[in-house]
Amino acid sequence: MGKGKKRFETRVIHEGYDSADHYGALTPPIYQTSTFTFANAKQGEHRFAGEDAGYIYSRLGNPTVRVLEDRIASLENGKGALAFGSGMAAVSAVLFHLLKSGDHILCSRGVYGCTFGLLEMLEEKFQIKHDYIKMATAESIEGAIRENTACIYIETPINPTMELIDLALVCKIANQNNIPVVVDNTFCSPYLQQPLNFGANFVLHSATKYICGHGDVVGGLLVGDSAEEINHIRMTTQKDIGGIMSPFDAWLLIRGLKTLPIRMDRHCENAEKIAEYLKNHHMVKAVHFPGIEEHAGHLIAVRQMKKFGGLISFVLEGSKETAQAFMNELKMVKIAVSLGDAETLIQHPATMTHSIVPKEARGKMGITDSLLRLSVGLEAWEDVCEDLEQSFQKLSVMAISTDI
Ligand SMILES: *Cc1c(COP(=O)(O)O)cnc(C)c1O
Repeated sequence: MGKGKKRFETRVIHEGYDSADHYGALTPPIYQTSTFTFANAKQGEHRFAGEDAGYIYSRLGNPTVRVLEDRIASLENGKGALAFGSGMAAVSAVLFHLLKSGDHILCSRGVYGCTFGLLEMLEEKFQIKHDYIKMATAESIEGAIRENTACIYIETPINPTMELIDLALVCKIANQNNIPVVVDNTFCSPYLQQPLNFGANFVLHSATKYICGHGDVVGGLLVGDSAEEINHIRMTTQKDIGGIMSPFDAWLLIRGLKTLPIRMDRHCENAEKIAEYLKNHHMVKAVHFPGIEEHAGHLIAVRQMKKFGGLISFVLEGSKETAQAFMNELKMVKIAVSLGDAETLIQHPATMTHSIVPKEARGKMGITDSLLRLSVGLEAWEDVCEDLEQSFQKLSVMAISTDI
């Protein structure tokens, strides 16, 4: 940690904001303005020329949004950041920045469902080809790199199978080959994992999830290891495509971020207890959670994550219908996509988040019809387990009665 740099738990609250610059307002004000007046024509000329750092127009920068950007840049140990109107706007901006027609992108074996859709579109419209590989060994990564590979794009843990990717391994090979690495760090939040420290060049978040934490914003963040490059994206891709964040959403995210460390600690603790409960349940065939010692990525998780996260996926004995019946019997746990909220959420990847992925490709990713994903919330873990248990018991009764 650099001299004078405060600890993570302090920076989530103070970084990038000085109340003295805002009439002493403890909380960053919402600058709900589309444009900014110039004192005179010359000042306007200087701002457009980049010689005066002042604000011009809110698509190019806004003081409330800038507090969030500076804060997340610090939390990810990056040099600059941009806020977007959704996680997908951040994904598409960084890919538009890095790729041109005819390039190749190498991806982890699973990516978020809409990222999958975007990659299909890039191939169809711009002949940007992609490969999904397991990235388990140096040989497999080196073997998949092509002359025109312009980006390595990974998620870890992978949604929703919780497979882990060794960040140090991937970044080392990518750095040797001068290929930029982009990591979707949504599942961890910067509290659990900071990919730039391993040599990644860009980190992005669906801020909708843990960074918000309260299920009331859709937003995205992109952090880079170079201030110049982030500023370039701000003044090109983001300015021209326009996927910006509103000042009010930035304000809600600034508010959410303040409690990120304490929320994440609770999410992680709860998830460990619930994973243990599911692991010992006779109606559960498999539990995918990096905190379980038998999990294939457990040792990687220990090396690169502070704790094991709040997401668990598990496979039920039975079919798609069993999985759906299980969800329908839950009383407190809500059926919803998204994650990282105070409420525990359950979803069925094969028919929900990953329904756009063809069945065969889903199979290769390990997304079977009886796989369920749980986003563990902040409730008392015992109450979550009791809700799961009553649903399991109803299922066994149903199974018995249909046998008869
Ligand atoms: C939700 C999510 C996204 C997309 O973010 P939006 O804010 O919904 O656009 C991308 N990656 C991961 C891992 C996600 O969970």
